[in-house]
Parts: sequence; C-alpha cells; structure tokens
Amino acid sequence: MHDHRRLGRELGLFDTDPLIGSGLPYWLPDGAAVRHALEEYIREAERRAGYRHVYSPVLGKRELYEISGHWSHYSDDMFPPMDLGGEQVVLRPSLCPHHALIFRSRSRSYRELPLRMAELGGMYRSELSGVLGGLTRVRAIQLNDAHIFCTLEQVADEAGAALEMIRRAYRALGISPARYRLSLPGPGGKYVAAPELWRRSTELLTEVLDRSGLPYEAAEGEAAFYGPKIDIQVADGAGRESTLSTVQVDFHQPERFGLHYIGADGAKHRPVMVHRSIIGSVERAVAHLIEHHGGAFPAWLAPVQVAVLPVSDAELPNAAALAEHCADLGLRAEVAGPEHGSLGARVRQARLVPYHAVIGAREAAAGHVALRLRDGRRPEGLPAAEALARIRALVESHATDLWDTEAGAGADAGTGGRIGLTAG
Ligand SMILES: [Zn+2]
Repeated sequence: MHDHRRLGRELGLFDTDPLIGSGLPYWLPDGAAVRHALEEYIREAERRAGYRHVYSPVLGKRELYEISGHWSHYSDDMFPPMDLGGEQVVLRPSLCPHHALIFRSRSRSYRELPLRMAELGGMYRSELSGVLGGLTRVRAIQLNDAHIFCTLEQVADEAGAALEMIRRAYRALGISPARYRLSLPGPGGKYVAAPELWRRSTELLTEVLDRSGLPYEAAEGEAAFYGPKIDIQVADGAGRESTLSTVQVDFHQPERFGLHYIGADGAKHRPVMVHRSIIGSVERAVAHLIEHHGGAFPAWLAPVQVAVLPVSDAELPNAAALAEHCADLGLRAEVAGPEHGSLGARVRQARLVPYHAVIGAREAAAGHVALRLRDGRRPEGLPAAEALARIRALVESHATDLWDTEAGAGADAGTGGRIGLTAG
C-alpha cells in the first residue's frame, strides 16, 4: 500500500497550505475529478434507492446542538461557538439535527415512511492532534450522510438495504472491508442514559447483521453517543483500521426533537432514525482509494480516463478530434503529443491512465485507434467510435475490469495488438 499524502501530492490530487491551515486540504483539478465521480455515483445510487436529497447549512445555533445532545456529549470535538448579535452559532459536528428539523418542518403521514433524506454535506471537527496534512484527519469534512425516518417495523429492512448499498459500492470501488463491527457502548464513555433504548437498538442491529449472513465482531466503546452502530472497517497498508461506512439505529434524537408522524390510526407516533453512510467522509474514502489502488483508480473514477497519444505531429488533428469525441461522451481525455517526448515516454507518463488510444498513420487513415490498457492488454485495433463506445459502457457500469472481452467482436485481450504500435 502507498501513503496517500505522498501520492496525493505527486499525482496532483490535493494539497495543503499553511496559510489555510492544517487539516484543511484543498482539492486540485484531478482530485476534484475523482471526487465528482464518487459523489455522482453516490447520488445516483441513493436516487435509485428512493432517497431524496436536501441541502442544509453548515452552521447552526448552539441551542440546536444542546437539544441534539452533541453539546453535552461531543463538544470536545466541536469548534468553539461564534458570537453573532447576541446569539451563538457553531460549525456543525454532524448533519443529523438539521435533517431532524427538515423532517419536523411539516406534518408527516405514515404513508411517507420510510422517508429517506440524503445529503453530501459539510461538517467540522476540531482535530487538535494526530497526523494532519492528509485526507484522513481533517477539520472540514464532506460527509455522505442520510437519515431514514421510519417505523420500528421498517428499521431492519432499511438497515439491511443500506448494508447492501455499501457492499455494492465497495465492489464498484474495488475495495473490500477489513471487518464488520457491531459497535456498542463501553465503560466510562459519554453516552445518553436510556438502557431500554440501547437494548432495543442493539437487538435490531444484531438482527440485521445475522440476517445479512456477514461475519462480524462486537466491540465495546465504539458506539455513537446516541446509539449503537454497524461500522464497516477498512485497513491501511500497516493494518490500521478506520471506519468508512456506518449504519446506526437511533431512538434518541427523534425523542429529543419531538419528531412524530400521523399513523393509520390518526394518532401521533414517534419515528425511528436510521443514520447511514455508504462511503463515510469523501476525504477518508478518497484517501483509502488512493492507497488501495496506488493511484490506478477504476476507470470510472480515474481523473484522466483516456490518454490520446498521436505517434507524430501528423496525427495531432485526429488526436484532437478523438479527445473531443471523448468529451462529448462524458469521458475525461487528454492529448499527449510528440512535444511530450517519445511514444514510450508518454506511455510511461500515462501509466495510471486506464486507456491509451494510440493513433499512428495507419489508424489515422482508417479512422481507428490502437488501444492499450493500463494493465498491459492490447485489444485489437477498433474503429475509434466503437472503441470509445465500449469504454463508455464500461465506465457507465462502474466496472472494475478495464475491458470486457465478451462484448463485441474482435477483442484480442492479452495477446498483443496486431495494429497496436510498439512503444519506442
Ligand atoms: Zn446522523
């Protein structure tokens, strides 16, 4: 595994500046491209699963977090409040309270449940110590968050479906969990005191895990202050674990915010909140992806997906046209012409780019490209339009394999391209 801080800088994905401050990285264009692809994947997966997206502000009055319980249980991790015209506002430490208020903003019927509310939103943590300078411990966090407001009977299905979304996302990202953990309260921690609610939510999450058939371990002292959670742990090269995804059952905040819906009986009932995150914070997810893939991202995430390599200046117009065609198809392409060195040098320079489209005199004349894949395979030369259509299909399906040898005729993977040009 690689150090994401070193690779992030080498690959021009993100950086920091002492004047902005530690724990506050900025994203460079290639890093932003990876992040956009990831965020689009998440929003689309959520949209398909019946989530509705909202936006809410990153600030809130101190009182909001006093009600949610963050102020008394979590203030060590919060930025100090700002005085503003006799009021105190704070940078939010989580999105839950805002979403609870959005749920509460109008009367809700049981027919609207489960109500799945999602947001990729900012939150803040006043990290004082630890390794700043990378993406794993940051003070400004972009969280892939969602809250499902539902009945007690719906909790197990909703939490189970969230686990399934997480498994699907990991497949597309080409990563795998180190461990599923049932995170329970431990001695001495700051937890809300409601033994009956803790017991019920622990039972529910245990049921979800047992039904999923996934192996898991229970761990004390890892719960959120308001409830137990299922944590999906990933490990770095040194075996250090961190939590990427979570599914939590919460009876506490619906109580604190006085949430209710009107049941079929016409009476008021309290919903349960299921908190879930597919990839956790965008920062930590990208850090893990950089380290796991060593910068060779799955094609759909790669900052540059197609490196267009004209053999000589004569093919520059064809290369430009191919790059434009890529852009029309939503593919990220870059032309690297002979001014960047020999073809061999340009191929090496683009070693992390999934697809190399080489255009020599023969390809230019025939309207073909000689494709070389990052992994060394060379599919048979294809008409340019067909090659790009197949790349786009792979990217759109979030495939982790770079080539579908089943699709179409003429794929000649791994045997060396007959039309492919020898790097020189
Ligand atoms: Zn939450």
